Amino acid sequence: MRELIEVADGVLVATSAIMSTTSTLLVGDGETLLIDPCWLPSELDGLADVIDDRGLTVVGGFATHAHYDHLLWHERFGAAPRWASRPTAALARDERAELLEGLGADFPRPLADLMGRVRGVDAVIPASSVPRGSAPELVIHDGHAPGHTAVWLPDQRVLIAGDMLSDVELPLPFAPDDLEAYVAALDLLAGYASRAAVGIPGHGTPGGDAQRRLDADRRYLDDVAAGRVPDDPRRANPGMEEEYERLKQMIAAR
Ligand SMILES: [Zn+2]
Repeated sequence: MRELIEVADGVLVATSAIMSTTSTLLVGDGETLLIDPCWLPSELDGLADVIDDRGLTVVGGFATHAHYDHLLWHERFGAAPRWASRPTAALARDERAELLEGLGADFPRPLADLMGRVRGVDAVIPASSVPRGSAPELVIHDGHAPGHTAVWLPDQRVLIAGDMLSDVELPLPFAPDDLEAYVAALDLLAGYASRAAVGIPGHGTPGGDAQRRLDADRRYLDDVAAGRVPDDPRRANPGMEEEYERLKQMIAAR
């Protein structure tokens, strides 16, 4: 069984032992939409236990972007349709071989087969795939990954940010040069972050400080772009100094 934290009315978050990756369940009226369920096989199984234990029916899935740790599923979640933005769905299909490689050869075959089986949507997740009474909005941009999507829950004022606005990870524009798209994504998310009661990052801790995290991301990118050494405590986290070096090189190559 996995520990779920209710961060807002009907919004439950489980956190993986790997990279603090979050799984979010939007729950209402006995139904649930699973957003980025992850990661280890035992953790996916634990999520299925919690869902069974609470008597929930999985009516849909949603993947925020086409990285393998955000495209997972478990057969015990059932056959409800799984959705993503159109660019995410296209990448999940076209880059399937690389995504499977990322999961690793040891990842159980049946779960690997289920990875990335998402269909593309434009602006909204079909009503039959969200719990009755909820109306999540999709905020699609190209920061971190093409077609990356945040999910905004207007009733609870919750921003499920995907791999943006993290308290543990630095901004990670994708290679070769996605910096403009990343900054544009922050501009787009600003209108939500300023209103958010809770922000849920794809990696990290849900918090009431989405606006502050967004400001920190802007400051970090501005500093690196201007050749200043960023005074950002996230640089001390695993793998982040390498990401800082990568971003410097990306900017130098422009
Ligand atoms: Zn990612």
